[in-house]
Amino acid sequence: MKEKIKSLYLLNKKYIKWSFIFTTIVIVLFILVSFIYQNDKLKKDQKGHLYREINQKNQNIEIPVFDDSKLNKEIKKYEKQIRKDNQIKKVTYELIETNELKQVIWNKKRKDGSLQKDIWLYHKTKKEPLTLKEIFLHWNQEEKDFILTFLNLEWQRTIRTLTPPIPTDLNIEKELNDCIKQNSYYFHNELNDHYLYFDFQKEEKNYQLKIPFYLLKDRVNWKLLGIKREDEIWLKEYAMNRQVVAFTFDDGPNPNTTPTLITEFKKRGMNATFFMLGRNVAKYPEVVKMVESNGFEVGSHTYNHRNLKRSSKEEQSYEIIKTNEEIKNASGKEATSIRPPYGNYNDDTISMIEVPIVLWNIDTLDWKYRDANLTYQNSIEKVTDGSIVLFHDIYYSSIDAAVKMASELYQRGYVLLSVHEMAQVKNKTLEAKNRYYSIK
Ligand SMILES: [Zn+2]
Repeated sequence: MKEKIKSLYLLNKKYIKWSFIFTTIVIVLFILVSFIYQNDKLKKDQKGHLYREINQKNQNIEIPVFDDSKLNKEIKKYEKQIRKDNQIKKVTYELIETNELKQVIWNKKRKDGSLQKDIWLYHKTKKEPLTLKEIFLHWNQEEKDFILTFLNLEWQRTIRTLTPPIPTDLNIEKELNDCIKQNSYYFHNELNDHYLYFDFQKEEKNYQLKIPFYLLKDRVNWKLLGIKREDEIWLKEYAMNRQVVAFTFDDGPNPNTTPTLITEFKKRGMNATFFMLGRNVAKYPEVVKMVESNGFEVGSHTYNHRNLKRSSKEEQSYEIIKTNEEIKNASGKEATSIRPPYGNYNDDTISMIEVPIVLWNIDTLDWKYRDANLTYQNSIEKVTDGSIVLFHDIYYSSIDAAVKMASELYQRGYVLLSVHEMAQVKNKTLEAKNRYYSIK
């Protein structure tokens, strides 16, 4: 019995000794590990995303943690870069996720107080960053021109409302070019916020310019982004809190002037409606195709520019039907509407047509002035919400006036749409045989 107690006692002693050693090792390890990681804590942000907060030598860095090892590796590389740069004081990030995109917007605060942003666009399925080249269906000079011209216009619109004034040395073209070069852009895909954003900083201030999805609808590879096209919603959102106006162009197409107008309007993200003469459509079908394929609306202005009111039923029938045929042949689409020459028609006309009659409430008198400035001055102050403005796209002076007026109206807060788009925005359906001078 005594022997047994003694051996138990010895065993216990041995046990105590080993457990003491073991505990010491654990404690030492724990101290070591917590020493290494004392400045690197895993936390959860407000939306429940994991991130690490790193505090080291006057640097405070927040880094998102993802369940994608490839992305985490990229982030690790980026983190190393930041850690090396002792001019960076603080780094925070914003995470914007859309269907197929993970977007990280890094805000880097430097010691001198200046701010810098790095923007990452990461495709979840491809597991790779995305460049504009991949996002756009046809990335070319035309698309770059569109981004630069539209955002420049948007910038001009914005600075009219900005107080205090913007830095005088701010070169918006350069800033935007840098955004494109550095792939510095991101998408919002939320209710009332369907925009492609471009951010830049100047003198510690952030500026943000954005392109509505509606203007990108035929330009961007939505499938790649996993975003469903919702043209009607996007259009209404784009025109929300803005006034709308429809520019219309009669008597074309003309191979010298019409394409210039298309190019100028397209790079500003503007739409318009063309009331074409059947005889010109027959002569220049490729111009009609260009107008239609660029998203502009094509209506009929009859074949020979006759006064329908003074024409027989047979003559009217030829004027209307022949023009519709030519438009269909050239563009592949039906004429959306009709504008009778001089705005004249009678009951015979009404009985023959199956489209709305689109007239105008502002006549620029461009055909009379043949001078861009006079045309502009005569009309610019007459425009109100829902106006339909009459031009003729067969004179160079009309094209110049229209582009000048359109740009000014955009900066005043107007959105330039085709007649049918304007009706959509106003929740109106244009009825066949009805006439419209404006859409209020
Ligand atoms: Zn005409």
